[in-house]
Amino acid sequence: MEAQNDWVRIFDTTLRDGEQSPGCTMNVEEKVVVARQLEALGVDVIEAGFAAASPGDFESVKSVAGTVESPVVLSLSRTREADIEAAVSAVSSARNPGIHIFIATSDLHLKSKLGMSRQEVIDAAVWAVERARRDLDYIEFSAEDASRSDLDYLCQVFAEVISAGAVVCNVPDTTGYAVPGQTRALFEALRARTPGGDGIVWSTHCHNDLGLAVANSLAAVEGGARQVECTINGIGERAGNTSMEEVVMSLATRKDHFQVGTRINTRQIYPASQALSKVIGVALAPTKPIVGANAFAHEAGIHQDGVLKNVLTYEIMTPESVGRLSNRLVLGKHSGRHAFADRLRELGVDLHAIDVNEAFARFKELADKKKEVYDEDLFAIVAEDGDVEQRYEIVDVKISASLGSAPSVEVTLSVEGSHKVVRSEGDGIVDACYRAITELAGVEPRLESYQVEGITGGTDAIGHVSCFIFVDDIGVRGHGSDTDIVMASAYAFVDALNRYEARRKRAASGADAPVLREVGP
Ligand code: MN
Repeated sequence: MEAQNDWVRIFDTTLRDGEQSPGCTMNVEEKVVVARQLEALGVDVIEAGFAAASPGDFESVKSVAGTVESPVVLSLSRTREADIEAAVSAVSSARNPGIHIFIATSDLHLKSKLGMSRQEVIDAAVWAVERARRDLDYIEFSAEDASRSDLDYLCQVFAEVISAGAVVCNVPDTTGYAVPGQTRALFEALRARTPGGDGIVWSTHCHNDLGLAVANSLAAVEGGARQVECTINGIGERAGNTSMEEVVMSLATRKDHFQVGTRINTRQIYPASQALSKVIGVALAPTKPIVGANAFAHEAGIHQDGVLKNVLTYEIMTPESVGRLSNRLVLGKHSGRHAFADRLRELGVDLHAIDVNEAFARFKELADKKKEVYDEDLFAIVAEDGDVEQRYEIVDVKISASLGSAPSVEVTLSVEGSHKVVRSEGDGIVDACYRAITELAGVEPRLESYQVEGITGGTDAIGHVSCFIFVDDIGVRGHGSDTDIVMASAYAFVDALNRYEARRKRAASGADAPVLREVGP
């Protein structure tokens, strides 16, 4: 029988390892939205950032620490005094504060990156853990590139940091090099051979370069790991980190095999996935397990027939168990504010984190254009937060287009309250529209990425556009949703420009200085 204190802790690093991958950058407000969602999921540990990396990172860790209550909140830290001080200070307001100290242990990293001997690395690790111990009880230690480190040396490093006070030992496969059989054997060996290793939690941290992050994480659990480090939707550097939803649902669905589970509220998985995807504007592959659009769609006739007779014929878990409600049609134009708020709550949206009145106004506007409003539409509505000051607002867009001539668009833009009009031609309607807005705004943005996502079915479906622009060296993302894709594009672009203005003001006040990042475990 499973012991009460035997469960696999979920350590979420969406806000640190996930966020540091290109295109997944989040600002402080966005990180707080994601952190609330992580708490609703019931994750055990949140790695909120790398406090010493930049003032912006410090602010993010501090804000997350002050927001969530149940999870442990950690900051990443190198084995340096300044890093530890920043981390300790950033997590100080957390109810359950902690620190995550790392240093590389593979000979390759020691020689090529650190220029340190094995003994010097042990000394640095022990010093850092002892130093952090003065301020914090919860200390995780990571041996970066552990999967390519010498086993005897690894046991020695872990034994030393355990006696210095580390309570979690993490064994990262930093480069995504490990294979499952080897990973399981590694954990079995570490547990058997590390003095003090039976009194701490062993943790796995995998990368998906060979598509093996989830398989390696599960193999680690078989080998005795009781913490999995992962991210929502598997975001992260290169091919990404271990995907939280895949690990959690593997352990839940195959409990017969693993004999151990997590404390995750699985019904919050889909809301969390949707919320993150909207915040960072990165769409999911339709075939993505658990959370992709097709993950529960049975198209083949023979499957549909089987599913109708008995869902177990082809379904190993239900869409409801991960928060995908089969009754997707929810609201219409006659739905009231109460029904709207109730539905958001059912979907796992934190009503404290959004302006409900404003979201309801946007819902009414949408319901007027569209007969049926789906859950996915609601996620799009709440993702458009109204926090940013609206320097620019679209007043009107007039389009003229025909085959054989360049389209032209006349945009009326309110700039700090006064209306300006410009007509512009372009290679397409969206291009013409962006040219007109650019001229009106008087800045020179470079469009880095532009993505359209049809959120629900039908030609009256709401379209969600996200774009990422650079003005000078400031990169910002904008979102827009509308039943008309040109309007959604225009809203997204103007949203990005408003966010740029807000960011520029913050940068001028020194709160958001850009800094080069260290990769980390
Ligand atoms: Mn990593």
